[in-house]
Amino acid sequence: MLRPGADPQNVQQSDVLCNFCERVWTDDLPLIEGHQGSIICGHCLRAACANLEKGVLAPSHSSCTMCLEHRDDPAWESPAVKASVICARCINLGARSLERDKDFNWKRA
Ligand SMILES: [Zn+2]
Ligand SMILES: [Zn+2]
Repeated sequence: MLRPGADPQNVQQSDVLCNFCERVWTDDLPLIEGHQGSIICGHCLRAACANLEKGVLAPSHSSCTMCLEHRDDPAWESPAVKASVICARCINLGARSLERDKDFNWKRA
């Protein structure tokens, strides 16, 4: 997401925030982009992966912040930013692409 008040015509790296924890994007912060500028950082993605392994379901009424779809699958809702939800498919896709990214030594656990 963009920091509130950021100029969409002149976006700086520091204007880009994780939708799930509002951490600011820095060069050493891995992140995954979803639809409509939604962002999840590596920290949140790791928490989401751990949650998936526990089999915890997020509220079923909400749609995924990343793909904007609603699914009846497990999902993770951010404890920090309410209504920010990522579905199991986006968690797995995101984790796979971060694990492949050689710039970061990111592991899901
Ligand atoms: Zn985050
Ligand atoms: Zn999704």
